[in-house]
Amino acid sequence: MSLPDVPAPRPGPSAGHVYLVGAGPGDPELLTLRGARLIAGADAVVFDNLVSPVIVDLAPPSAERHYVGKKASDHTLPQDEINRLLVRLAAEGKRVVRLKGGDPFIFGRGGEEMEALVAAGVTVEVVPGVTAAAGIAAFAGIPLTHRDHARSVIFTTGFLKDGALDLDWPMLARPGQTLVVYMGISRLAEICRQLIEHGLPATTPAGVVERGTTQAQRVATGTLATLADVVRDADIRPPALTIVGDVVGLYPRLAWFSPETVEQPQHAPHVGCTAVHPQAEPKS
Ligand code: SAH
Repeated sequence: MSLPDVPAPRPGPSAGHVYLVGAGPGDPELLTLRGARLIAGADAVVFDNLVSPVIVDLAPPSAERHYVGKKASDHTLPQDEINRLLVRLAAEGKRVVRLKGGDPFIFGRGGEEMEALVAAGVTVEVVPGVTAAAGIAAFAGIPLTHRDHARSVIFTTGFLKDGALDLDWPMLARPGQTLVVYMGISRLAEICRQLIEHGLPATTPAGVVERGTTQAQRVATGTLATLADVVRDADIRPPALTIVGDVVGLYPRLAWFSPETVEQPQHAPHVGCTAVHPQAEPKS
């Protein structure tokens, strides 16, 4: 199969260009072809901690590599320094690939970075990526919409700028929809409690997926009433995504992905936690 070349960047005021590229949720094969080709032609790559090293290694050996990764409450490089770095690299005339986990415009601060770059006169192109919700739902066998269970899906975050969990709970707790919570693992108990208080049955299926799409993927499922305990007992850690809604009830039947090479963690999940291998799923 031969593919057309990526078109040359639009000429702009800055000598270089920044490509804001979504790296997908974990499995490097979920990178787009366009993203792969841009990385292979990059003069500099700037990447976060959720980006697979396999993807970063698609850059030529001569390319500059800048790690600017962030973990919750451990900001390796403040956002304005990342912005300045990108502007500087572009001003040096480089083809800069800014790699972000998942999709750049979904909870990735891609919008903030692009605003800063555009304000500095840098031309930017955005390459979408498979966002964590889509990738993880696919690999966990949890369809985000389903005509019998959910006609809409909401992506929200449990990590707000000021630390408050001030979400629109009545909207999030509506029946007949799927709720996906990014970055919510440390607030899981509160999220589940609020959803129940705002009207979702405590028996609503809910699950958390750790390191979805990778060989370290673990899935823990329960109900709104049990999930926080299940996740604590299984010692699930970020990056993890929470999915709430009747579609999670399909997981035991539809789970297809079994990581093969992963070493089972010492704290292997137990009680009520359906994890790691779909085959390990209780048959009941
Ligand atoms: N831009 C990214 C999201 C960045 S926010 C995207 O579109 O996917 C980071 C959060 O995404 C994590 O805290 C976690 O909630 C979720 N996430 C990203 N990759 C994940 C993975 N492989 N498994 C589980 N959750 C993931």
